Amino acid sequence: MPEEPKKTSERSKPTWEVPLEDPKELKIDEPSTLAGGVPAIISSLKHTTHEMGIIRGGQALLKVNQKGGFDCPGCGWPDPDDERAITEFCENGVKAVAHEATKKVITKDFFKHWSIEAIGQQSDYWLGQQGRLTHPMFKEEGSTHYRPIAWEEAFTKMATHLNALEDPNEAILYTSGRTSNEAAFLYQLFARLYGTNNLPDSSNMCHESSSVALKEVIGIGKATVTLDDFQHADAIFILGQNPGTNHPRMLATLQKAAGRGCNIVSINPLPEAGTTRFIHPQEFTTWLGQGTPLATLFLPVKINGDVALLKGIMKELLEREDQQPGTILDTTFIQQHTDGFENFAAALRQVSWDDIVEGSGIPWEDIHKAVDIVINAKTIICTWAMGMTQHKNAVANMQEIINFLLLRGNIGRTGAGACPVRGHSNVQGDRTMGITENPAPEFLDRLGEVFNFQPPTRQGHDAVRGIKAMHEGRAKVFIALGGNFLSATPDTCYTAEAISRCRLTVHISTKLNRAHLVTGNEALILPAMGRTDQDRQSGNLQYVTTENTMVVVQTSQGQLEPVSPDIKSEVNIVGNLAKATFAQRVGPGQHIKWDTLMGNYDEIRRLISQVVPGFEDYTARVKQPGGFYLPNPIRDDRNFLTSTGKANFTVHPLPNIPLQPGQLLMMTIRSHDQYNTTIYGLNDRYRGVKAGRRIVLMNQMDADERKLAKGDLVDIVSHHEGHTRKAAQFTVIPYPILRTCVATYFPEANVLIPIDSVADKSNTPTSKSVVVTVHPSSGHSRHP
Ligand code: SF4
Repeated sequence: MPEEPKKTSERSKPTWEVPLEDPKELKIDEPSTLAGGVPAIISSLKHTTHEMGIIRGGQALLKVNQKGGFDCPGCGWPDPDDERAITEFCENGVKAVAHEATKKVITKDFFKHWSIEAIGQQSDYWLGQQGRLTHPMFKEEGSTHYRPIAWEEAFTKMATHLNALEDPNEAILYTSGRTSNEAAFLYQLFARLYGTNNLPDSSNMCHESSSVALKEVIGIGKATVTLDDFQHADAIFILGQNPGTNHPRMLATLQKAAGRGCNIVSINPLPEAGTTRFIHPQEFTTWLGQGTPLATLFLPVKINGDVALLKGIMKELLEREDQQPGTILDTTFIQQHTDGFENFAAALRQVSWDDIVEGSGIPWEDIHKAVDIVINAKTIICTWAMGMTQHKNAVANMQEIINFLLLRGNIGRTGAGACPVRGHSNVQGDRTMGITENPAPEFLDRLGEVFNFQPPTRQGHDAVRGIKAMHEGRAKVFIALGGNFLSATPDTCYTAEAISRCRLTVHISTKLNRAHLVTGNEALILPAMGRTDQDRQSGNLQYVTTENTMVVVQTSQGQLEPVSPDIKSEVNIVGNLAKATFAQRVGPGQHIKWDTLMGNYDEIRRLISQVVPGFEDYTARVKQPGGFYLPNPIRDDRNFLTSTGKANFTVHPLPNIPLQPGQLLMMTIRSHDQYNTTIYGLNDRYRGVKAGRRIVLMNQMDADERKLAKGDLVDIVSHHEGHTRKAAQFTVIPYPILRTCVATYFPEANVLIPIDSVADKSNTPTSKSVVVTVHPSSGHSRHP
């Protein structure tokens, strides 16, 4: 049992705020240009032994991403279709597994000793280090502590609160991207039987913009490529993505591609070790070498300079086509499969080279190097992540990528296409299962037919709208199926106020996180099984299913004995919540055999196959080793299911975020010891940061101009529509990033992201383009 914390000056800080850290602990080294290798092995071993021990660790890791094993709880990167290695995981996959499969547990006594306020004074890293939650806990109105509660009582409380609401739309049912297909399907069914589409999810904060953008222009909101396509691509463009930290197994794919001569172009404001050089940790013979160079060309764009850069590349392609007609563009593809080319080309010809160079930050000569790579590539894949999706013009960003691919017919054929890389292992599957605030009418019709009820058609709240509804008193019950809502969302102070105005907040979680510390009048923490846990229902072992970023649906069966008999599976928790809620009222939901569904997940899959297209004969097909591919009309038939029946070229203005003198554009990023909101450690090996997280990466000239030196402490103030927000005490690190651009880690900097600053059409918070100023901190001291 950890000791009660000493009283410090930080004790008066609100529990929602990530506590400040001692800047003297921070060490700053040179950034690395080499990913993987021996340091990745050492880090993996450290996390394995520290959290799981060798035996439990070996038991878990040998089953991760294996056919018949469990799906890594980390990112959505796919597994090979054919033979798999014994060690089919990366360093950050090990961290994710170790974090979940830890032997450490939080007992009931923990919450007796620690008040919520006292826990809130600890760092996010400390919270995660306390171990797995093992018992349902309840906080009464006015209480300072959580206390144990029986499961039945917890379900009754939730049901009573839900049934007391005047309108079902006063409830918000959030889902994190780890939730299985089965739990997600049941959860959305429960929500709609209850009467609401208020189903925000973690996708609202990340790839919502990709889904919206792709649906409009190519007809589906998912990747059009398979893993195998990467081995047939002549060029791979990686935009706004740091695969070395966020999808590390992608580096092995890139290494293989680079080895056969594929050109890799990295477009990113920061140089990242993961796209520079890579030593595959599982290739022992290469450990002492220099590694494989990955990116042939690195284009360090300004933050949000991607549209300008893509316009530059495409403008040059148009100009070369004009000079040598019929040799540069795929005119046959454009004529047969696309719409809107003439408008697109006319608009592009109007854009000046000066604006392109100014907007992108990339000199004309380097844009030409990219164009040469494009022209020499018969097949191109574009991959991207949050660097593209979290801007006001995020939807335009992805549609510009599609314009780029369409020009040379680089979509719907082997070795070519679009690949948004999802950051959480089943965030895509949850959407497929109906977790969305804005369901398609066809989906609701099928759901209504199969379950014999009239689903609600009113659009629900996404994450940002849900926060506003709670803040304004229009939503009163908040239930989170997984995740760390408070730390994943923007404007932390506003969000915390919103949550604390609820009558009841519920978190279904594997581990303690900051979201548990900001509560409604009453609050529940319900301990859930993770991917690694054996899930036995009615005496039989169950498995769940997930969908990876390249639309493969596969099984996931936990292998470890759960750390407590008192934790339940997410399916079981959702089923019991539904059962308790509908037992208290008359109406839809009562006729469903919730016990049967909880007792045998095949029964849930049988219902999914009746509602969701592509899941016919679900259980039999998913049990085939490796699972099955969902239909993908573009990859399969070059069939674009858009309003025009073709792939649509679109026209977008150059983004312009005006900066006043002294202002900078900030993006939030992850450290290498972090996965989404989970903090595994305080180091960022690749960027040379040790023992600290409150740092700001800044161009040396911007630092000089402000008379700041490496190690100085600054407060960061964001500016939006006349309002300011402040985050204190960040250490300045001069870094190779273009002028006027800065980077900070989230969730520490989330407090700066205005709730009203969202992407057009997708409503995703603009976490990658926040206008800020930096000011010497009141505790302004130079780092030793
Ligand atoms: S690449 Fe992603 S899915 Fe694969 S092991 Fe690493 S974290 Fe897990």
